[in-house]
Amino acid sequence: MLDAVATLRAALGPGSGLALVGGGVRDLLLGRPSPDWDLATALLPGAVLDRAREAGLRAIPTGLQHGTVTVMVGGRPFEITTFRGDEGYTDGRRPDAVRLGVTLEEDLARRDFTINAMALPVEALGTPGWREALVDPHGGQADLAAGLIRAVGDPLARFQEDGLRPLRACRFAAQLGFTIEAATLAAVPPRLAVAAKVSVERVLAELTKLLCGPEPGRGLAALAETGLLGLFLPECVPMIGCDQNRHHRYPVWEHTLAVVAAAPADPGLRWAALLHDVGKPSKRFVDADGAAHFHGHEAVSEAAAREILTRLRASNALLDDVAALVRHHGVHPAPAWGDAACRRFLKRLADDRLPLARWATFRWADQAGKGFDPASWLPEHRAVLDRLEALAEGQPPLAVKDLALDGRALMALAGRKGGPWLGRLQAQLMERVLEDPGLNTAAALEAEARAWLRTEAPPA
Ligand code: ATP
Ligand code: MG
Repeated sequence: MLDAVATLRAALGPGSGLALVGGGVRDLLLGRPSPDWDLATALLPGAVLDRAREAGLRAIPTGLQHGTVTVMVGGRPFEITTFRGDEGYTDGRRPDAVRLGVTLEEDLARRDFTINAMALPVEALGTPGWREALVDPHGGQADLAAGLIRAVGDPLARFQEDGLRPLRACRFAAQLGFTIEAATLAAVPPRLAVAAKVSVERVLAELTKLLCGPEPGRGLAALAETGLLGLFLPECVPMIGCDQNRHHRYPVWEHTLAVVAAAPADPGLRWAALLHDVGKPSKRFVDADGAAHFHGHEAVSEAAAREILTRLRASNALLDDVAALVRHHGVHPAPAWGDAACRRFLKRLADDRLPLARWATFRWADQAGKGFDPASWLPEHRAVLDRLEALAEGQPPLAVKDLALDGRALMALAGRKGGPWLGRLQAQLMERVLEDPGLNTAAALEAEARAWLRTEAPPA
C-alpha cells in the first residue's frame, strides 16, 4: 500500500498536495484495516488524468462531476478526488454543485464527523513522525481518543444538508463502539424529515453495517433514542417496553439487543435477531396468574420481517434467509423426540432451505440473549441436536422429489390423470417415509399407494 501511494505521489509530481483523507486516516489512527483508502489532491481532475497517464498508469475518470479519478496501481484502484467544497443542498441528500480547487481545510470542513475529517499528507505515511503531520482542524484525534462521534460544525445545519449523516452516526457508533456526542445526537430528531429522504437502498446498507458492527446495541439504542427507528423500522418500536414477565429474564427489546449481539456478525443472522420477536407485542396475552404469553407470534414476526425487508428492497436471498430463521426460531427440539419427529423437523427446515447448523447457530444466540448460560441448557438439548445432526448426515428422503416413486409412476399405478388426489397421496407417502425411511423403495411405496387408492382416493 505504501509503495502504491509513493508511486502515485511521484506520478502526480510536485504541488499535488496528495493526502490520505477521511475514513482511511481514522482507521490508521485506530490501527484497524481500512476497506478503502481515499486520497485527495489540489490538482484538478484533468491534471490528475494527464499526469497519471504520462507516468504510464491507467487512469479512469470515474466521477468527474465530483472531481474523482480512479488510478490503478499494482492492480488496485485508488480514488483520487480534487479538494472540493459542497455548494447548496436542496434535496436533503447531495450537494447541488461542487466547487473544485479549494483548500484542503475547506475540503475537510464539508466532511460529516470530526473523526472522518482529518488528512495525512502522503509523504508522512510510513515515517516515524507521521502523527505530527496530521491535518486535524476539527479535533478529530481528541474525539477518536474519547470515543465520540461529533458533527463537523453545527450539527443541525449539517443534518439539514444531508439526511444520511444521522444514520451514519448510528452506524459508526455500532462499528467503532463510540458514543454520539450530545449536541450531535440532539440534532437528529429535529431533522428526521430530511433523514426520510434517504433512498431505501442506502438505508438498508447502513442498517446492515450497523447490525453487523461489534457493538450493534449502541447503534440500535441510538436509532431508538433519536426517532430513526420509528422512521425506518416502525414495526420495531412496540418492542421497547414490552414486558415478558416470568418466562423471560429480559423484556422483548433488551432481549432483542442481546440476541443481535450474541449472533455471529452475518447480515441474515443479525437481521433475523433484530426481527425474530417483532410480532410479540401484538400477540401479548396476560393470563389469570399475571404471566405474559405470546402464542403464535412467530408467524406475525415472520410476516413483519418480510414486509420490512421487502420495503427496504433487500435481496430475495436475504429475505428468505431471515424469514426462515424467524419462522423456525421458537422450535425447542425436546429430548423426548423420536427419530421420526426429528426427521419431520429436518423436513421443515429443508422446505425453507435453512441448513440445520445455521438454525442451531441462531437458536444458540436466542438462548444466549435470554441470559442463559449455554452450559446450563446445552447438555439436555445437545443430545437432540447431535441426533438431528446424525440423521441429517444420512441424507434421509425429506421431499416428495426424493420418493422412490415419482408422480408419473403413481399416475400409471392408479390409471388416472394427475389431480389434487396425487398431491394428497404423495403427502401421505412422504409422511410414511419420514416415519420409516426404509419404506422408500418402489415396491414398498407401491403397496402403500395401492392401499391408499383403495380406501382414500376419491372416485375418478
Ligand atoms: P467506511 O468506508 O468504513 O464505510 P468511511 O468513513 O470511509 O467509512 P465512506 O463512505 O467511504 O466512509 O466515505 C469516505 C469519507 O467521505 C468519510 O470518511 C467522510 O469524510 C466523507 N463522507 C462520506 N459520506 C459523507 C456524507 N454523507 N457527508 C459528509 N461527508 C461524508
Ligand atoms: Mg471508506
